[in-house]
Amino acid sequence: LVEFESFAIDRLKLLKVVENLGVSYVRSSEMYKTKLEAELRKLKFPYRALAEDDYEARRKDHISHFILRLAYCQSEDLRRWFLQQEMDLFRYRFNELTESLMQKFLEHVHLSFEAIGEDLKNELANELSASTPGFTLAKVKEQMFYKVGLADAVDLFRARRVFIKDGFAYVPFKEIDVIVLNNYRTKLSKALALTARSLPSIQSDERLQPLLNHLSHSYVGPDYSVQKNTGKISLEQIDALSVKSFPLCMRQLHRALRDSHHLRHGGRMQYGLFLKGIGLTLEQALEFWKKEFIRGKVDADKFDKGYAYSIRHSYGKEGKRTDYTPYSCMKIIMSNPPSQGDYHGCPFRHSDPELLKQKLQSYKIPPSGITQILELVKGVHYQLACQKYFELTHDVDDIGFSLNHPNQYFTESQKLLSGGRELKKEFNNSGNFQQKNNSQESINSSSTPTSSNAKADTELEGLEAYFTED
Ligand code: SF4
Repeated sequence: LVEFESFAIDRLKLLKVVENLGVSYVRSSEMYKTKLEAELRKLKFPYRALAEDDYEARRKDHISHFILRLAYCQSEDLRRWFLQQEMDLFRYRFNELTESLMQKFLEHVHLSFEAIGEDLKNELANELSASTPGFTLAKVKEQMFYKVGLADAVDLFRARRVFIKDGFAYVPFKEIDVIVLNNYRTKLSKALALTARSLPSIQSDERLQPLLNHLSHSYVGPDYSVQKNTGKISLEQIDALSVKSFPLCMRQLHRALRDSHHLRHGGRMQYGLFLKGIGLTLEQALEFWKKEFIRGKVDADKFDKGYAYSIRHSYGKEGKRTDYTPYSCMKIIMSNPPSQGDYHGCPFRHSDPELLKQKLQSYKIPPSGITQILELVKGVHYQLACQKYFELTHDVDDIGFSLNHPNQYFTESQKLLSGGRELKKEFNNSGNFQQKNNSQESINSSSTPTSSNAKADTELEGLEAYFTED
């Protein structure tokens, strides 16, 4: 089980790097390839597929892929994210193969297409040159063309990149990757759907189920349960901090609380634990929530009898006395979506794009920045959209870390605003940026979630029962 968990976490780290690199660099660029290869080496995954005798690395590669299939088949969002990152990883690996290894691979997966003979190629040379972008007559003569059934070449056909005749596409060797990827997408997508159907039998396994659930909400970084700055923030500072240093999800919750003097239980959980994470003591939390709630419809007595207990509980002072940890982005994005009247969740994931646009406009984000954010949201890169929001609101070109947690956003913002963080960063090949200033606490996603995180997550469900009153 320990190996099971560590393989899966390493692959999750790898896929997060794939996601980050895919947004930061052109996928065929040298920089992209160099950084991805470095990450593959670091995490001990095979980086020259088929080319080396690397049994252990391949074993890890296979096992971890299938574990994440189990964890990421559980919802449409998870499937889509997993599919996209695995496709990018596959594309990189396939394109790194030599021509002979590509051929070997195609045969291995029964995708060996028929190369057309010289006679037919000469006969079709003009059409091939006219219909294949970038192919002069001379280049047509040099390259091998394959006759591929139309169904396998839909993407190339749609993009008008191949010559079509009698229901076949004539595909140059250099475009074969599009077909292979298409085929991989179809197969993996079907496999995920099938895996989802067999989930009930796995869910009955009490060893695996918490682990898989945890993986799909997984966040590979510090849990912000231990705060060095407890008690260092005063309640009077919160309004200003919410504008300067809160991520959009928490800024939205704070605004809603100030406006309506109330938050429903999803909002209280998400925001309350975040505030605890930034350093509010239990006494401050009680005072903060009470002051706000009694401005609304809740009187002091009702607050003390109902809400105060749940706040003490979240600080580990009631019930099982578990010290609850603030929610990570993954947890916020993937679980408990907000309904009408709720303000929790991640605005990049859960807000209507038009509303998000209006909100960003009202926060004075420049139009070009809004367009970039909305593009990232459209591509389901919610955390990257949030990173862009950080860059725009802090006026930096490069955020310098890989965002995974609202409290990480806050900490990094505070460091930056207080001049305690060097802006110059060095990419550390794990999708995060290594801080050069060693005196800084390392807030990157290279630490590993432990079973205790999973345990805390499970126990948190118990806490939610205490917050049922809206
Ligand atoms: Fe909050 Fe994370 Fe969403 Fe940013 S990405 S708004 S920090 S949940």
